[in-house]
Amino acid sequence: QSYKRIGEVDGKVKAFLKLDEEQARSAAKTLDGQIASGGSRGLLFGLPAGIKDNIVTEGVTTTCASKFLSNFTPVYDATVMRKLKEAQAVSVGKLNMDEFAMGGSNENSAFHATRNPWDLDRVPGGSSGGSAAAVAAGEVYFSLGSDTGGSIRQPAAYCGVVGLKPTYGLVSRFGLVAFASSLDQIGPLTKNVEDSAYVLQTIAGHDPQDSTSANVEIPDYVSALTGDVQGLRIAVPKEYLGSGVDPQVKAKIEEALRVLEGMGAVVEEVSLPHSEYAVAAYYLLASSEASSNLARYDGVRYGVRTDNANNLLEMYHMSRSEGFGPEVKRRIMLGTYALSSGYYDAYYLKAQKVRTLIKQDFDQVFEKYDVVIGPTAPTTAFRIGEQVGDPLTMYLNDILTIPVNLAGIPAISVPCGLVDGMPVGLQIIGKALDEATVLRVAHAFE
Ligand code: GLN
Repeated sequence: QSYKRIGEVDGKVKAFLKLDEEQARSAAKTLDGQIASGGSRGLLFGLPAGIKDNIVTEGVTTTCASKFLSNFTPVYDATVMRKLKEAQAVSVGKLNMDEFAMGGSNENSAFHATRNPWDLDRVPGGSSGGSAAAVAAGEVYFSLGSDTGGSIRQPAAYCGVVGLKPTYGLVSRFGLVAFASSLDQIGPLTKNVEDSAYVLQTIAGHDPQDSTSANVEIPDYVSALTGDVQGLRIAVPKEYLGSGVDPQVKAKIEEALRVLEGMGAVVEEVSLPHSEYAVAAYYLLASSEASSNLARYDGVRYGVRTDNANNLLEMYHMSRSEGFGPEVKRRIMLGTYALSSGYYDAYYLKAQKVRTLIKQDFDQVFEKYDVVIGPTAPTTAFRIGEQVGDPLTMYLNDILTIPVNLAGIPAISVPCGLVDGMPVGLQIIGKALDEATVLRVAHAFE
C-alpha cells in the first residue's frame, strides 16, 4: 500500500532518495510468518516507516544527501533502526534532507529538492523535509528525522504533521551521522500525537553504545495522553510572539492558547531574555562541532574519492571540494575559524556562555510553569528558491526552535490551523525528560 501511494505521488513530492522494496517485502513476509506461527505483535507491527538518510541502515545506502557519501552502504543498523525492527515496523526507504542536515528547506540536498505536498511550489522545510513530506503525503505511516536546531519541528510545521524533538540523550544517537554532537537528537514525525507517543516509546531508552545516552526509566508515554490540561501552567514568552512573527501566524497561536485556556489551563506571559542571542550562538557552536565531525571525510575512510589527485594532500583537498556542497563548506569554514587559536575565546567560548544563559532562562520559567508555548516557525512554508541565495534569512527560520536544542529540552510541533492554505505549527516545550507532559498537552489540543 505504501509503495502504491509512493508510486502515485513521489514523482511530484520527491521525498525519497532510496526505496528498498525488496528488503521491505521480505521483512513483511517474515513478520507474517512469525504471526502465523503464534508470535506476538510488536508495538509498531507492520507499519511502513521512512528513515531520514542520515540514520545508518544496514545494507541500504546512507548518503546524508551528500555526493560525498553517495556510495556509502553501512554494515550495521543505528540503534533506532534495531529498535524499530524489534517493534516490527518496516522501513520502506530513505528520505531526502539538506546535506548533512544543514539547512531549513531541503534545497541543500545534493540530489534534488523535496516539495511541500500542500503546495508543490513551496519548500517542505528542513533539514528533515523528506521525513515531513512523506508523512504529509501519506507515503509512510511515520518517519524518523533528526533535529539539531529545529530540523524535525520546522518541517513538521510547514507540512502540517506532528514532529517531536526529544530531550538530548533520551534517544540513542548511535548510527546517526553526526552534525553537531551536543545538539543532535533523533525523533518521530507522525500524523498525530498518539502515533508520536508510540514511536517515542519504541526508540527511547539507554544505549551503552552512545556515551551521551541518558540512563533513565522510560515512562509510559501512551498512557500519559489523558486529554486533561486542567490547572496546567502555560508560559508564553513575549520574545516568541514579537515583530519577526507573521501576524497571521501569531493570530493562530493566540487562538490555540485560548483553546487550551478553555480546557482549564492557565496562560501567562513570561520573558526568555537571552532568546535574541540564540541564533548567533547556535551557528557558532553547530558549525564548530560540524567542522570537527566532518574532518573524517577525507576520501580515504568513507565515501567517494577524487579521481583527479596526484598526491595524498591533493587527494584530501579534492575529495572534499568535489564531495561537499556550498552550505557544508560554509559551515566548515565558519567552524574552523571559530575554533582556531586566538579566536576560540572570542567566539566558541563566548557562545558556550550564551548557551548557559539560554538554558538558565528556561530553568527559571520551568520553576513556575509546566510548559512553554509559542509558534514553531515565524512564517508558513516559503517558496522554493526564495531564500536559497540568502543564508542569513534562511538561518532565521529557526529562531524559535534553536533555543530548545541549546537547552537540551524536549519540544513538539503540532498543527494549529492554516494561513492562506498553508499549515501553522504550535510549539510546546517541556522540562528535560518530561516528554509525557509535552505529549499530553499536544494530544489534548489536537
Ligand atoms: N536549519 C538549521 C541548520 O541549518 C537546523 C538544522 C538541523 O536541525 N539539523 O543548522
